[in-house]
Amino acid sequence: MFTRTSLLHSDTQLNQQSYYEASVQRPAPLPRLGASLDVDVVVVGAGFSGLSAALELAQRGLSVVVLEADRIGSGASGRNGGQAIVGYASGMGPFEQQLAAADARRAWDMSLEAIDLIDARIAAHGIHCDRVNGYVYVADSPRKACELHEEMEGLTRRGVAVEWAEGADVSRLIDSPRYRVAGREQRSGHLHPLKYALGLARAAQALGVRIFEQSPVTDLQRGNTLVARTAKGQVKARFGVLAGNCMLPEYGPQVAPEIAPRIMPVGTYIVGTAPLDPALCARLIPGNAAVCDNNFVLDYFRFSADHRMLFGGRVSYTTRTPSRLEAVMRERMGQVFPALAGVPIEYVWGGFVDISMNRAPDFGRLGDNLYYLQGFSGHGVALTGLAGKLVAEAVAGQAGRFDVYAGLQHRRFPGGPLLRTPSLALGMLWHRLRDVL
Ligand SMILES: Cc1cc2nc3c(=O)[nH]c(=O)nc-3n(C[C@H](O)[C@H](O)[C@H](O)COP(=O)(O)OP(=O)(O)OC[C@H]3O[C@@H](n4cnc5c(N)ncnc54)[C@H](O)[C@@H]3O)c2cc1C
Repeated sequence: MFTRTSLLHSDTQLNQQSYYEASVQRPAPLPRLGASLDVDVVVVGAGFSGLSAALELAQRGLSVVVLEADRIGSGASGRNGGQAIVGYASGMGPFEQQLAAADARRAWDMSLEAIDLIDARIAAHGIHCDRVNGYVYVADSPRKACELHEEMEGLTRRGVAVEWAEGADVSRLIDSPRYRVAGREQRSGHLHPLKYALGLARAAQALGVRIFEQSPVTDLQRGNTLVARTAKGQVKARFGVLAGNCMLPEYGPQVAPEIAPRIMPVGTYIVGTAPLDPALCARLIPGNAAVCDNNFVLDYFRFSADHRMLFGGRVSYTTRTPSRLEAVMRERMGQVFPALAGVPIEYVWGGFVDISMNRAPDFGRLGDNLYYLQGFSGHGVALTGLAGKLVAEAVAGQAGRFDVYAGLQHRRFPGGPLLRTPSLALGMLWHRLRDVL
């Protein structure tokens, strides 16, 4: 039975065995909020979205407080596949159908800017996060191969050069018996997401941003002055940014109840192997690209800087972690790379992705001073950075680029909190069946 409280419990459990947490040295915990503060902007959530907004707002001279329920990067931002990908989970469909042609084109250009922004920040703030360029898209059936070809033609038309391979030639890009075709481009790539999140936090703090950990916002009073309340303190601010992702309604059901039904938490999982022979890694994925297939229940994978295979996939539309998770992931990994079938798995973790109904990002305002960022739909590593920048532009009076996204229409998932997940699961069954046809 689905209950909202178990979502938070399940999410917390899924971060217990993360390779990323095990491979960083976190700084000492930051204090909990225990006072009443008055600032220009209060940000809820210290993932990529909130940290990016805080950094950009501080760069514009505003005073900023970030309130984080758990620890910096403890949500999706610190545990994802690390794949920074051009474009949108939805493809360009919703943009081209709903927006003027010029705005749809701007949205595409902004998705490229989102990638460049990662590199600019890494350089500007000296963030060491194992950044690698290179991305391989793969397909494993004739129907999926046609779809991928079309997608790659779209990328090429929009200015991203793609190297295409078919049949035996695929092994130039990936050495797997599973795939019929593959396309490689160099704009997208990968990084260590928790190192990047901690680097963003350091950069924001250096500009005066105050971050409080273990400080969930349970209530947010709206009006010309916003008041964000935690158990032991409050922050008054002229502007607010809600960047709490799927867990926002878990910690604060009354903070923004009107936006919660427009996203659905979907579980996704990753395993990390023991370090492998570097020569084997170089043979399996020449060029060390990140890889993703185009199935509805997709596999996404890459090597870490210390030569572990980080293999992601499987989904869950309930809050329950799938049973036999490690075994199932091992099987999927072995189908892609038979050479890895028996290697030790040292880490198993996961988290929840905030999918919107049409898979397009859902950014907007509540009143004229409370901004929200959600609906990244599994494509947030790059886009969250841009989203934070666009909020800062809007707060500074230049809302044109933010409003490209705010102009997209979003629907609520049918059913209340108790019904949304089962009805979604039924809907998704059809797509999962199509993966194997
Ligand atoms: C397993 C997994 C794999 C993924 N792989 C990829 C990938 O390879 N490529 C890609 O592009 N995307 C991927 N994603 C998606 C990507 O990670 C997210 O889109 C992105 O990290 C969202 O960032 P965010 O800042 O919006 O949310 P989060 O990183 O989840 O941050 C939200 C923060 O807000 C805090 N919070 C919530 N409510 C409150 C409250 N009331 N008060 C205070 N704090 C609160 C939470 O504790 C959390 O730290 C993946 C996601 C998962 C879970």
